[in-house]
Amino acid sequence: MKPIVMENDHICRRDNVLGSLPPSDQMISIDLPVGSGFKAKNLETDVRTIQKALNQIKPLHGGPTVPLVVDGKCGPKTNTAIWNFQFKQFKAKGADGVIEPGKQTIQRINQLLFSSAPVDPGANEEIRARVVKHMNLVAKSVHAAQANVLLANSPSGAIDLGKGAANSRLDRHFALGSLAAGAREQAIRNIHGVFTMFSNVLLMPGAMGTGAFEADPTGDPRIAFTFGNGFFFGDVKHPEKNIALNRIYLGRRAFFAINDSEFCAFIMLHEMAHFVGFPGGGFIDDHGRGWFTDDTITRLPAGKRLLNADSYATFAVECRTGNSSKPHYVKAANTSR
Ligand SMILES: [Zn+2]
Repeated sequence: MKPIVMENDHICRRDNVLGSLPPSDQMISIDLPVGSGFKAKNLETDVRTIQKALNQIKPLHGGPTVPLVVDGKCGPKTNTAIWNFQFKQFKAKGADGVIEPGKQTIQRINQLLFSSAPVDPGANEEIRARVVKHMNLVAKSVHAAQANVLLANSPSGAIDLGKGAANSRLDRHFALGSLAAGAREQAIRNIHGVFTMFSNVLLMPGAMGTGAFEADPTGDPRIAFTFGNGFFFGDVKHPEKNIALNRIYLGRRAFFAINDSEFCAFIMLHEMAHFVGFPGGGFIDDHGRGWFTDDTITRLPAGKRLLNADSYATFAVECRTGNSSKPHYVKAANTSR
């Protein structure tokens, strides 16, 4: 039983939980750029920070195979290590040989190294408080989606109390406009069923008081993971990892390195779709990532959108905000497995 893991590029893949405890308890930062090229200033303290941080990263994630000498001097070995790390993490287009304060390379290093949480998630109030805050947005999105689906199905009256808008919202996120009337009605019933399961996920008892969501106790360096249709697995534990299958795990490093609550709520809604699945036992997969206006989504017919995690997450976000334009944190990507 392999979980679906949202990796640090935000693409979900079926993979084993890695489980490695964090080598660092503190976010790292630099004052000026480190590396090669005209932007690099290579302050001695900054270079030491980067050398120490890269030494803590496993070669699997792009860390140096031979540890760097921590001498504060940015020589050829340090420059090669920076380039190798960027190439491993971002491929050629994200490898420019320089690490700038607050930019993607330092963020990724922190995603890989940072953990302020002890292994017992219930023991850390700060982590819990953050999940509770995100949960508020998640719950509002789920309730707004449920209200939208009910409104779309409401009897027609002399006055349109939003029924037309509710139907358009369903059509644009799930491409229901292409379906015959009967199939469209069935699709809406199924979407309603998915969001009913979502609302039950919010009510599941758990250590943090945050439904099925937990801070990952395994130390996996990636964003989040859960088990497909895990909602239905009861109290079954993963035989090797000894973690419950009916939970959604938020990565203690990568997830909690994201400071944008809206973005976190979106990730949580996405994970919930994998976790509950489609009425009748189907699996909700990733057929494309993105907003309904992205060509990674427009190319998907209704049958695929109904089984696509981002379609539920984007629909619920629009139902909550009332805004049909694409939020900054939604990224388009093709997915392939
Ligand atoms: Zn996914």
